[in-house]
Amino acid sequence: MYNVAIVGAGPAGIFAALEIAKLRPEWKVVLVEKGDRIEKRKCLLREGFEKCPTCKKCGLLCGWGGAGAFSDGKLTLTPDVGGHLDDYMSREKVEDLIDYVDKLYLKYGATEEVFGTDMKVFREIERQASLAELKLVHSPVRHLGTERSLDVLKNMQDFLDEKITIRNDVSARSLIVECEQVKGIVLDNGEEIRSEYTIIAPGREGADWLTKEFGKNKIGMVNNAVDVGVRVELPAPVFEPLTSKLYESKLIYHSPTFGDEVRTFCMNPNGEVVQENYNGISTVNGHSYAEKTTNNTNFALLVSEKFTEPFKEPIQYGQHIASLANMLGGGILVQRFGDLLDGRRSTPERIKASILTPTLTCATPGDLSLVIPYRQMTSIIEMLYALDKIAPGTASRYTLLYGIEVKFYSARVKLTDELETEGVKNLFAIGDGAGVTRGLIQASASGVHVARVICSR
Ligand SMILES: Cc1cc2nc3c(=O)[nH]c(=O)nc-3n(C[C@H](O)[C@H](O)[C@H](O)COP(=O)(O)OP(=O)(O)OC[C@H]3O[C@@H](n4cnc5c(N)ncnc54)[C@H](O)[C@@H]3O)c2cc1C
Repeated sequence: MYNVAIVGAGPAGIFAALEIAKLRPEWKVVLVEKGDRIEKRKCLLREGFEKCPTCKKCGLLCGWGGAGAFSDGKLTLTPDVGGHLDDYMSREKVEDLIDYVDKLYLKYGATEEVFGTDMKVFREIERQASLAELKLVHSPVRHLGTERSLDVLKNMQDFLDEKITIRNDVSARSLIVECEQVKGIVLDNGEEIRSEYTIIAPGREGADWLTKEFGKNKIGMVNNAVDVGVRVELPAPVFEPLTSKLYESKLIYHSPTFGDEVRTFCMNPNGEVVQENYNGISTVNGHSYAEKTTNNTNFALLVSEKFTEPFKEPIQYGQHIASLANMLGGGILVQRFGDLLDGRRSTPERIKASILTPTLTCATPGDLSLVIPYRQMTSIIEMLYALDKIAPGTASRYTLLYGIEVKFYSARVKLTDELETEGVKNLFAIGDGAGVTRGLIQASASGVHVARVICSR
């Protein structure tokens, strides 16, 4: 019998474990992770495979460190981005948690430098943005880079190896619930793990599983918006005036035609575009290394759609659009902005006759207008023109658009302010999979929050 069982070794699960180990060193804690230990994790695309083999357990997303392991490690140090924790507690409390987890990242080896703290520089870029009807969100960023991220996570794994039981290569299949109280989990090998408290932190990769499992136990879910869009790649100098000062600029726009919110997300100066795989569906993402650089910068443009009754399946909506791109391109599609506007597909020859070389070489040149709904496509085009005003060259005919980028954090679990489920006692849901966060820092903070709640009971 364990005091606490944790599902998922992403930042949310890891930080929950770190905090419990600190507050209750005598407790028995088990952390179940369906992927490998950090040193065994690999993504075959990163190892030189030309096409994503769509592994059963995506090496990019699963394993110690979760989706954060090979991520760029941009720690955004503000409650304004990366999650909704301030819906559950005061802004001051979220700020305190962010400060606390940031210090923990530093303790385990994060870099000292923080971008975007010079308010004079921020105000000037904010002024230019507002002239283009763009809202710039103040978000200081500590940038680890992918290599450093792996080191930090390895240090945390080494520490926790001594303190708790870590079970890799095994998935949680179902929850054990008796008399409206959680009693543990059943693993996919049939083994039962009994625990007093259970923390579910399966990330976006496990969001589908969470939704089904919680549905079976009549735990309420509310629809979040689903974010669908493209990854934009352009020559690094185009965004250099912004990235050199802020590293990442979080810009929000309301498209004139539909009034939808479009935002930049996960900006990677001199980075590369990567492919990820959600249960067999290929989608795009991006990252940048601390030392290895490319000539390009990439970022996502995401359009938020919030659905109204009777539609209740935003995850399937996102999956459907991404599957369509996979169907046409055999994986990821890439198109030059100029070809999109001219109503023609991109071809390998047209991509070659450009001023930039795609960093995701396995993407198939094609036509995104056959995939992305008119509503989202119009909003993306309008946003590219708005961005062109503060970073001239963004709306160039050579700018590359990769599809589809989609964020599957769409169903949000109904939770108390302590992030405990409404209806099943002692069951907590945190991180991206529960729909409460969208980034490393807030996911980590959600783990610390529930650990403190549990330890205080
Ligand atoms: C390529 C890429 C780059 C990114 N860059 C950044 C960035 O620079 N900055 C930033 O803030 N965010 C970034 N993100 C997002 C960030 O990684 C996530 O927000 C964060 O990892 C979410 O943490 P989490 O713990 O909730 O979930 P995850 O990190 O997704 O971890 C969940 C873990 O649970 C495991 N799991 C799932 N289901 C089960 C199950 N049934 N049983 C056992 N284990 C299970 C998974 O294998 C996974 O390891 C990036 C994401 C990607 C993919």
